[in-house]
Amino acid sequence: MASIQIESVVKTYNDTPVLHGLDLEIGDGEFVSFLGPSGCGKSTLLYCIAGLEAISGGRICFDRQDFSARAPRDRNVALVFQDYALYPHMSVRDNIAFPLRQQGVDEATIAAQVKWAGDMLGVTALLDRAPADLSGGQRQRVAVGRAVVRNPAALLMDEPLSNLDASLRVHMRTEIRRLQRELGVTVIFVTHDQEEAMVMSDRIAVMDGGRLQQFADPMTVYRAPANRFVAGFIGSPRMNFLPGDGLGGSAAVTVGVRPHDLGPGDTADDGRFRLDGRLVLIEPAGPVHFLDVEVGGQIVKATVAEPDGLALGETLTLRAPAQRVYRFDAASGAALPNL
Ligand code: ADP
Repeated sequence: MASIQIESVVKTYNDTPVLHGLDLEIGDGEFVSFLGPSGCGKSTLLYCIAGLEAISGGRICFDRQDFSARAPRDRNVALVFQDYALYPHMSVRDNIAFPLRQQGVDEATIAAQVKWAGDMLGVTALLDRAPADLSGGQRQRVAVGRAVVRNPAALLMDEPLSNLDASLRVHMRTEIRRLQRELGVTVIFVTHDQEEAMVMSDRIAVMDGGRLQQFADPMTVYRAPANRFVAGFIGSPRMNFLPGDGLGGSAAVTVGVRPHDLGPGDTADDGRFRLDGRLVLIEPAGPVHFLDVEVGGQIVKATVAEPDGLALGETLTLRAPAQRVYRFDAASGAALPNL
């Protein structure tokens, strides 16, 4: 296992910068997600760490040793991709054994390691099958087995769950997290799915436009977003943003409040945040109902447990605790102190 230091890393493709000087320190045994929209540079950074892409500036260190110029095979990292990349002509057993055979490990050790990985991932009964005879989830497990079988210093995963159907994806999240804890392996997990990053990670590196926006544990990213981008990217439904001047404040400020923090309430003058609007839509979502409320020509999303007594078209007062209302600089997007 290893810690990973990413120091002022710059990556350009034909003079176009895609990573603008990133700094990140990933602890030994930590589960870190790189999260951001498509094209923000997550995979590029992962490939730079793996050594599959050369960096254009800065340093990448493992356990504080500069590995920037080392070949991928010298970095002892294992990669898992979304398309599994299993060898179709080899059995599951030989797929898992492959990295060990490449390293010249003796067959007795290989057999023991394959058994260990197979048991841990629940694929022992499938060892003699071909990848074509496996389900998507089973293939993903075999790909993970092949990655962990040689005890890598770090496991680098590029959107490994995005080809699975929704319920399997949720199940595999838990499995990968359990496995990571059992092995104590350092994991970097690339995803554009904020919920996946939230539930799996020790810390999330939120990226946008090749720049790090925030690097913190999931609840800090959720409750104390560094800027408007992070606030809008994390959480579903996304945070409501309202112009400050429409709320009797300054136009230089954008006010943010999450749908889950906002719901129907009374009109008491007690310092809680208040919005008045017209109820235009009620969406049942199981544990809660989402409400669309038109406020000053803008739709604001709120939640309520039970919509009993609410009628479409009526005027509704929405309330939120003052500490759940965020303020951002309207020009830069930077988070401002809470009022
Ligand atoms: P993400 O993984 O966040 O979706 P990528 O790291 O794949 O983003 O891409 C980041 C940016 O780098 C994108 O604008 C993409 O078009 C560009 N890019 C990625 N790979 C190459 C390449 N081989 N040549 C030129 N541009 C590339």
